[in-house]
Amino acid sequence: MNGRYEQLRALAGEIWDIEKASGLLSWDEETGMPPGGAHARAEQKATLQRLAHERWISDELAELLEELRQFEAEHDHDSDEASLVRVMRHDHEKARRVPVELHAEIVRAGSLGYQAWLEARAREDFSVLLPHLERNLELRRRYVECFGPQDDPYDPLLDDYEPGMKTSDVDPVFEQLKAALVPMIAAVKEAEPVDDSCLRGYFPLDAQRRFSVWVMEHWGYDPATWRLDGTVHPFATAFATTDIRLTTRFQPDHLGGVIACLHEFGHGIYERQVSPTLERTPLASGVSAAMHESQSRMWENLVGRSLATWRVFYPKLQEELPQFADVPLTTFHRAINKVQPSLVRTEADEVTYNLHVILRYEIERELLSGTLALADLPDAFNAKMRDYLGLDPPDLVRGVLQDAHWSDLGFGYFPTYSLGNVISVQIWERAQNDLGDLEEQFERGEFGALRDWLGEHVHRFGRKFTAAETVQRTAGGPIDPAPYVAYLERKLRDVFGAAVGAS
Ligand code: ZN
Repeated sequence: MNGRYEQLRALAGEIWDIEKASGLLSWDEETGMPPGGAHARAEQKATLQRLAHERWISDELAELLEELRQFEAEHDHDSDEASLVRVMRHDHEKARRVPVELHAEIVRAGSLGYQAWLEARAREDFSVLLPHLERNLELRRRYVECFGPQDDPYDPLLDDYEPGMKTSDVDPVFEQLKAALVPMIAAVKEAEPVDDSCLRGYFPLDAQRRFSVWVMEHWGYDPATWRLDGTVHPFATAFATTDIRLTTRFQPDHLGGVIACLHEFGHGIYERQVSPTLERTPLASGVSAAMHESQSRMWENLVGRSLATWRVFYPKLQEELPQFADVPLTTFHRAINKVQPSLVRTEADEVTYNLHVILRYEIERELLSGTLALADLPDAFNAKMRDYLGLDPPDLVRGVLQDAHWSDLGFGYFPTYSLGNVISVQIWERAQNDLGDLEEQFERGEFGALRDWLGEHVHRFGRKFTAAETVQRTAGGPIDPAPYVAYLERKLRDVFGAAVGAS
């Protein structure tokens, strides 16, 4: 084995350990830390991030990567060896453009912004958050400047989540989505409303948790390698392929926390099924945010809202939450597939969800370019909610303060949600081609074939291929909204009858 490559592997492991330690501090910050820990935690995370960043930009790494050019060329593009050199070179060159102090300042300001966001929500006062947003926006602009002249200042921010993707790639996908969704939602408004009253009531938190874990155990959750904790804004993270952390927010009056578990499971299984040979390298995680979201959306929506799936899970739900004993399965299924414009993105249905995303994408670009002032953000947010969804947020918590993502102005992330929806159906259709009728399998309680197929065709590669390459390899073409739109039309016909979605 090449000695230089062994050195690279060792350095990759060291960086990985530092980054995962920092990630664990973030996980703790959002699941267990008392508020008083905020300032100390911001410093701790900034220190670890600085240590990792120093290694990413080090001359030692630069020299190793230079010396390994021949080694890289001698190995297959798909090999662990060539992939590690290639991906580390990409990350190294990107990190070199950002000064250490700016990087640390972004992390520190982001952590303080998150705490201010929590306080602003509690006090329902945007002005608590505003100075933090001003500071974070200034830092984002300085970050963008590090990458030199751009076609669009949003490009370097998008690239952090979708390496290689441009704002000009996203625009046409969103144009097509918007054009399809507006008439769909208009048709839904004219149809007989779906009765989802069974989803409101009193649902004890311990029963919700037991049920959620039971469901996820059918899919591949295993207490030896996974855990589930409470948080304000649900997320998933991993510290190794054998250490998967899911979070959710169970609430007593609805089942949003259960649905969040189905979603976060999809993120978790992606990290869980990365090849163990990539462990402790930057290859050992999902390719991009949109690819990750394609997996969470698949388990939440394509698997988790299917009638076949609930034929297996519903009796257990009725056992844990006896108020469902008298609710027919078809009533429950229609209720969890209801389409209706709503205020909170994370609780939105599959169809209107994309409009929540598109309006945020548009606002982010306006804030970054300076055409929208931060002080006007709450009004601008409300105006777009009216235009796209016909709704007036009654307060800040259900309005502009609903998402943690903007506490540090982490721009570039929101569009990946809808891109993930689009990709999820492209990959699903290919899985159906290979595996036959998945719904038939789900009815028998068999989810393993889909899970293993995803492991084989997507998950095990980690970051070896870009998102565009992964979609090309898996779905056989570029990112294309048409299969997703057709899927939504089929679903609307199932839930509302022939009048809707027939366009
Ligand atoms: Zn997600």
